[in-house]
Amino acid sequence: MQPKIKSKIFSGILGEIIEGIFINKSSNKKNNRKSQKGDDIYANVTISSKEAVFGTSRIINIIQSKPCPNCMGKKFINEALCPMCKGSGEISTHKKINCNIPSNAKNNSKIKIENEGNDSTNGGLSGDLYLIINIDEKSLFTVKDNIVYMDLPITPYEAALGANIEIPTFYENITIKIPPNTSSGQRFRLKGQGLYIKELKENSDMIVTAIIKLPKNLSEKEIELYKSLKENSSGNVREGLKNNE
Ligand SMILES: [Zn+2]
Repeated sequence: MQPKIKSKIFSGILGEIIEGIFINKSSNKKNNRKSQKGDDIYANVTISSKEAVFGTSRIINIIQSKPCPNCMGKKFINEALCPMCKGSGEISTHKKINCNIPSNAKNNSKIKIENEGNDSTNGGLSGDLYLIINIDEKSLFTVKDNIVYMDLPITPYEAALGANIEIPTFYENITIKIPPNTSSGQRFRLKGQGLYIKELKENSDMIVTAIIKLPKNLSEKEIELYKSLKENSSGNVREGLKNNE
């Protein structure tokens, strides 16, 4: 069961992805006649669990509002609505910001990017941009209490006969041995294949759950073989299911 380590580095979902446009404004308005800070902008960012562990970056596409340069934010010029901002006092500009997401980002955490929110309408500080981190539930890995979890799809024949299967970890590809007669849901603990824990100076474990999966389309030959398997099968997998009578 000792996994053999291969030298290949697993390259996960890294790299820059341009996120959508976000215009969530916060209500930063206070009844204060002094110069007010511009509104904050919130942007939802989805990252993989691997990116959450190692850190990543995203180009965030935002719409910032600035005081209209024509009416200086006053909405009117000579008692007529400002034609440039149509009386809103603000104009919107698109901006792309390259944002770093630090390592060990937690789900639903906020990352503050200072001064990248909306400009103040009366000479105050700009608002801030907040990235709201969403760790993709469909990530290959799940991390809980420093243990890395992964579902491993296996075919029915691999479950029956056993197999050596190459899998990715956070750091490299390894080959694990699935023993013969493995059931769906069976878990395998891979010592030291989880995350590197600085404080302990060692890696946590990784838990792989075997999930028996059929390919989407079975060939006629495969169906024939399954029929033959059905006629020749022994043992009862549903022994535990008994009527409560
Ligand atoms: Zn204007």
